[in-house]
Amino acid sequence: MSGGNGGLGILEHTQSLCPECRRLVDATVFDRDGRVFLKKRCEQHGDFEAHVYGDAAAWVANQRYIRPGKKPVDYSTSVVHGCPHDCGLCPDHEQHACVGIIEINSACDMDCPLCFAAAGRGFNLTLTEVESALDSFVRTEGTPEVVQFSGGEPSIHPEIIPMLQAAADRNIRHIMLNTNGKRIARDDDFVAALAEIRPAIYFQFDGFEPETWRTIRGEPAILDEKMRALDRLAEAGCPVILIPAVVRGVNEHEVGRIIEFALSHPAVFGVNFQPAFHAGRFMPHDPLLRLTNPDVIRLIADQTNGTFREDDFIPIPCCYPSCNSATYAYVDGSSVTPIPRVLNVDDYMDLISNRVMASVTADIRGALEALWSTSSIPGSPRAAYNFDMACAACGLADGMEGLEDVIDHMFMIVLQDFMDPWTFNRKIVARCCKEILLPDGKQIPFCAYNNAGYREQARAQLSACEADRNEHRRNGRPFEIRPLTFDFKEDTIGVTP
Ligand code: SF4
Ligand code: SF4
Ligand code: SF4
Repeated sequence: MSGGNGGLGILEHTQSLCPECRRLVDATVFDRDGRVFLKKRCEQHGDFEAHVYGDAAAWVANQRYIRPGKKPVDYSTSVVHGCPHDCGLCPDHEQHACVGIIEINSACDMDCPLCFAAAGRGFNLTLTEVESALDSFVRTEGTPEVVQFSGGEPSIHPEIIPMLQAAADRNIRHIMLNTNGKRIARDDDFVAALAEIRPAIYFQFDGFEPETWRTIRGEPAILDEKMRALDRLAEAGCPVILIPAVVRGVNEHEVGRIIEFALSHPAVFGVNFQPAFHAGRFMPHDPLLRLTNPDVIRLIADQTNGTFREDDFIPIPCCYPSCNSATYAYVDGSSVTPIPRVLNVDDYMDLISNRVMASVTADIRGALEALWSTSSIPGSPRAAYNFDMACAACGLADGMEGLEDVIDHMFMIVLQDFMDPWTFNRKIVARCCKEILLPDGKQIPFCAYNNAGYREQARAQLSACEADRNEHRRNGRPFEIRPLTFDFKEDTIGVTP
C-alpha cells in the first residue's frame, strides 16, 4: 500500500490547524517514500507540511485496530461549534476517557527548554477544585480507571498528598504522579507519605549523558538526583514508569541504554518513550524531521541487540493506532521474552477481522486487551493479573506464585506520540482517550488542550483567580469554582507557538 519511490499516495482527508493562527484548515495525509506526512494550507499563513508517522505500510495496516469506542456515561458540553471547539467531552467524541489528567499547578522547580506545559507562575488549584474535577470524572466515567496528577510540577503543590488521597477515596483504580523527581530525592516526609498511598510514578528520565540533560532540561548534572529519587521509590514500594522525551539529534542513541537500565532497576516496571512534540516551550524544530513512534521503535530494535524487535510492538486500540504502540515482556533475571514472540497477540487484538484462535479463551483475549490499553499501569495488581493470564496461555507463567511474583516479572514499553499544531489531526483527537480534567467539570482531550487554544485560555482564567485562592487560604474567604469559557476567534486564542 505504500506509495514508495517518491510517489504520493493519499491516505486520508481530514482537518488540522494552522500552526500560526490555529484556524481549522483542510488537510491531507499522504505517503511519501514509505513515510506518512500531513499537508495543509492556511489562506493567511501559507502551506505547511509535517512528518506524522515513520512507516506508511504500518499506518495503513494498523487501520484494522480502529474499533468503535466506548461512550462515556455522561458528557459535559454540547455540540455547538464543531470539533475541536466543543470540548468537552461533547456527544460527538468517539471514546471515553481511559486516563484523566489534572494539572494542579502551573509552577515548577525546573525550567526545561522542552516543556509542553510552558511551566511558570500562574495557579495552584485548591483541594476543592481538584475534588470537583475528580467528581466530574466519576460522573462521566462511572468507575474511572486512571487519574494522573500533573502540572507544572505537582509534587511541589502543598496539598499534593490530600489530592492523591482524594482520588484514592473515590475508588479510582490507578493513581499516577507525573514528576521530575526532585522532591522525591530531597524530602523524606514526602516519600513516607507517598509510601502510604503508593501511586504509580511517571518519572521524567531522558538519558544518561550531561549533554542530553543540558539540552532537554537545562540541568546537565541532574542524573545523580534522578538516581537517588529512583532508589527511594524502590524503598517506598511505588512502581515507576520512566518517561524519556526523545529528541532528534539529542538522545536518540540513548534509548537502548534507558531500556537496559529500566530492566535492571527494582522500582521500574516500564518505559514510556515520547517523541518530542512542539507545544508550549520547546526548542525550534523542523516538522519534516520529527521523530514518530515507528522511528523510536526502530531505534529500540537497533540498540537492544535483539532483545526487542520491531514486530514486538502493537498499536494500542483504544485511541488512534498512531498515538500509542506497546509491548510487554516476561523478565526472568537476564532473560527477557516479549509476549508477542510466544503468543499471537496480534490475532487477538485484531477485532476487525475478528479471527479467533481456538486455543485461546475469552479470558485470555480480555487480558490481552486490558494490557494493550492506555489505562494499563505496569507494576499494578490489575496489570499483573492480566499479565499472569497472558503468560499462562503461553506457559511463561509456570512457576510464578502470587501477584507480587508476577509484578516482579513484568515489563512494558510504550511509545506515545502526542500531536502538535503541525501534526494535529481532527479525526484522531475526536477519539482521544486522555483528557485534561478541569475544575468546572470540562474534560479536554490532551492534544486539543495543547494545540487548539484551550491551554492558553484555561491558564489565563485559572491564574486570574489565584489572588482569590490565596485569600481563601489565608483568611478563609469563600472561593467559588468558576466555569471556564473558551473562545476561538483568532485574536483571542493568544497562542505563542
Ligand atoms: S475533541 Fe471530542 S470533545 Fe472535543 S469537540 Fe471534538 S469530538 Fe467534541
Ligand atoms: S517539563 Fe516538567 S519538569 Fe520541566 S519545566 Fe516543564 S513541568 Fe517542570
Ligand atoms: S493525547 Fe493525543 S496522541 Fe494521545 S490518545 Fe489523545 S489524541 Fe492520541
